[in-house]
Amino acid sequence: MQLLMWFLLVLLAFGAVSYHRMKLFDATVAIFCALLVGSFAGIIGEFTWLLYLAIALPLNIESIRVKYFTTPILKIYKKIMPEMSSTEKDAIDAGTVWWDGEIFSGNPNWQLLHNIPQARLTVEELAFLDGPVEEVCKMCNDWDITHTRADLSPEVWQYLKDNKFFAMIIKKEYGGLDFSAFAQSRVLQKLSGVSAVLSTTVGVPNSLGPGELLQHYGTPEQQKHYLPRLAVGDEIPCFALTGPEAGSDAGSLPDTGTVCKGQWQGKEIIGLKLTFDKRYITLAPVATVIGLAFKMSDPDGLLGEVKDYGITCALLPRDTKGLAIGNRHFPLNVPFQNGPIRGNDIFVPLDYIIGGVKMAGQGWRMLVECLSVGRCITLPSTSAGGAKSIALATGAYARIRRQFKIPVGSMEGIEEMLGRIGGNTYLMDAVTSFTTKGVDLGEKPSVISAICKYHLTEKMRQLVNDSMDVHGGKGIMLGPNNYLGRGYQGAPIAITVEGANILTRNMMIYGQGAMRCHPFVLKELFAANNPNEEQGLKEFDSALFAHIGFAISNFFRSVWFSLTAAKFAGSPFMDETSQYYRSMQQYSSNMAFLSDVAMGVLGGELKRRERVSARLGDILSYLYLASCVLKRFDDEGRRSEDLPLMHWAMQDSMFKLETALEELLNNFPNILLGKCLKLIIMPFGKRFNKPSDKLDHDVAVILQTPCDARTRLGKGQFMSREAGMLMGDLEQTLENVIACEPLYNKVCKAAKERFPFTNLDVIADTGRELDVLTEAQAELLRVCEAGRLRTINVDDFDPSVLAQGIPKPKVKRKPKATETT
Ligand SMILES: Cc1cc2nc3c(=O)[nH]c(=O)nc-3n(C[C@H](O)[C@H](O)[C@H](O)COP(=O)(O)OP(=O)(O)OC[C@H]3O[C@@H](n4cnc5c(N)ncnc54)[C@H](O)[C@@H]3O)c2cc1C
Repeated sequence: MQLLMWFLLVLLAFGAVSYHRMKLFDATVAIFCALLVGSFAGIIGEFTWLLYLAIALPLNIESIRVKYFTTPILKIYKKIMPEMSSTEKDAIDAGTVWWDGEIFSGNPNWQLLHNIPQARLTVEELAFLDGPVEEVCKMCNDWDITHTRADLSPEVWQYLKDNKFFAMIIKKEYGGLDFSAFAQSRVLQKLSGVSAVLSTTVGVPNSLGPGELLQHYGTPEQQKHYLPRLAVGDEIPCFALTGPEAGSDAGSLPDTGTVCKGQWQGKEIIGLKLTFDKRYITLAPVATVIGLAFKMSDPDGLLGEVKDYGITCALLPRDTKGLAIGNRHFPLNVPFQNGPIRGNDIFVPLDYIIGGVKMAGQGWRMLVECLSVGRCITLPSTSAGGAKSIALATGAYARIRRQFKIPVGSMEGIEEMLGRIGGNTYLMDAVTSFTTKGVDLGEKPSVISAICKYHLTEKMRQLVNDSMDVHGGKGIMLGPNNYLGRGYQGAPIAITVEGANILTRNMMIYGQGAMRCHPFVLKELFAANNPNEEQGLKEFDSALFAHIGFAISNFFRSVWFSLTAAKFAGSPFMDETSQYYRSMQQYSSNMAFLSDVAMGVLGGELKRRERVSARLGDILSYLYLASCVLKRFDDEGRRSEDLPLMHWAMQDSMFKLETALEELLNNFPNILLGKCLKLIIMPFGKRFNKPSDKLDHDVAVILQTPCDARTRLGKGQFMSREAGMLMGDLEQTLENVIACEPLYNKVCKAAKERFPFTNLDVIADTGRELDVLTEAQAELLRVCEAGRLRTINVDDFDPSVLAQGIPKPKVKRKPKATETT
């Protein structure tokens, strides 16, 4: 009994100081007080006091601690510390840590989340969305773009240039629009609901490319020359990094730029001889200015002592002699301009280097820094925008299309898809709003950008698949009336670009996240590498002991939360959301604790254990995505009609998070340790289930019924009701069908016959004959029937229209001598 009391007291004291993350000295005092109480109660004896002194004294006396603990640990640390390549160092140094740091803290401060202002548009940005963006959406017909022209029409190109669509990121002083990241996101969302070719064409110049690089790193001359021209579309940019041998491992590019002397405009100058082979370059076939990444070297020392500068970025005008440009790739029937660029021994002056010679070798850092912003905006926004339009269209279609005499959307099998579409759409828009707000606040969140890129493009792929299934043959038959097929075909494009998704999930999210977001890992790393060894030791000591305290705290918090199902964790709201805040508090502690265990056990090996890294990254990601959902729900006024969408998004995220956690523990490289960890973290298994059938049903109803929640879900998308606009027509038909149902019932009742809900024009005539409908009501039924038929019908073609003919070879092959003619 005495022993049990002793154990409980020590555990309580230790647990309490750990849970509250007390500083070392404060914790020592707190435990001293607890032991004193125990002594008076007769639970604590001399042995415990001796043990206490043996631990507390050396830890609290800095000179002893540093000599006997920190110094040997630092030696071991230096030996086992994973080697970091310079590209990895640049990636880790670039960008900032934002809400991801809070998630990694094991104890996120929810007040901080809710204090971040809601993203809003300025009057000018709103006018742009309602004016030029609305207009260009009307000008675009996706079938004409993807099938007839394999390009935007010349009028659309001109309209985009005239209205500065390519200049959303360019500052006003250079003639650009200088829009917020949130506004850019809204523009791309709207465009992507109309045409992926359109949104890609606008997205790329506003993302990573010459415009962005010049503004940050260009010389004043380069800025003055190019930026005003880019702003009005006199220059079309592209950026060429990828080549046949350097895809995901872009840093290994074999393209070279050798410093040498050569002739330039009749004079001998020192310049660069460039040899490169690039592919998949968006806008390359029409680009007039090419951003190029290559490895620069100066073998003859013409610039100084440095021989190998490393990755460098330059800008080449299209008319540069020797540039092979103009051919097109054909990306999955979504034919935006994309193609290869090649050059062999092209001589250019040194001032083509972005930022001039002083920026030689800084290319990788420049790219990573800009990517962390661009990747937060373009692909997540086009994915979320596509999702919003698809969600409304699928809901409308499911309500209009009937089989077995009922709307297909009321069938439980279809409700499962609609639930997923609606819930994911709510989440995706929440993520883009919150993340772009972060960018507008000056953040360059590199880890978050990888999370957004991976999860939103994956969700888009799932969403468009689900939507295709709901649409059946209607989604499959391509033609001017198919609003889905091209999105379905093109889904893998977003998955592949800006860091292909398998790599992004397995290496980038957590690979960077653990280093960047962990409160102490980077500090330890820098301290260990400090050339001033004395200073380094001091810094290492402080980071190390804070780290140990952090790990112990996360252990105790994990145990406490798992035993109590996080019922006593903090929550900023006492309503239906509090369960989520509390659980996320627990998972945040779990992730921080498991990160330390994984890093401690695997060390440098963690880099190669991609599936451990991927699952830890999933936990981090779902915590981020779920934070965005809670933030959106609060920003939008905690409306009860949005509850099904919020619950769906949260439960799906929590379920997936727990699945990742369980899979991580089941597959932990050290099996025994994995089992022990599971006992600590998930002693009772998972707490969350997939969203229930009832929740799927509730979301499905929202998607199929015009209401505020549905309007908010598709907010900002192109829904013009003008003739020929597919999305607006669907919306109108949905409203008409719902308005016609009581009229149809009235006619059926009067005729004493249950007609099928087809031929509504005939039903209109019957209603008039039976005198139960006014002429206006009959007309509504006729209009509804026309819309219904447009919705369910698909295109068919004369066979000769579809046949493309056999392409003629470019060069006629000479017949071989042995061939007969
Ligand atoms: C339509 C389109 C437009 C593009 N536009 C541009 C552009 O404008 N400019 C530009 O420079 N580039 C552009 N790219 C290139 C794009 O960034 C690359 O395609 C991408 O980086 C992947 O390279 P890859 O296709 O060669 O795939 P690979 O590198 O061959 O990868 C194959 C697979 O292996 C996976 N993989 C690779 N390494 C790892 C790893 N360590 N762990 C786990 N999985 C891994 C990848 O995720 C991928 O699934 C574009 C590509 C496409 C398809």
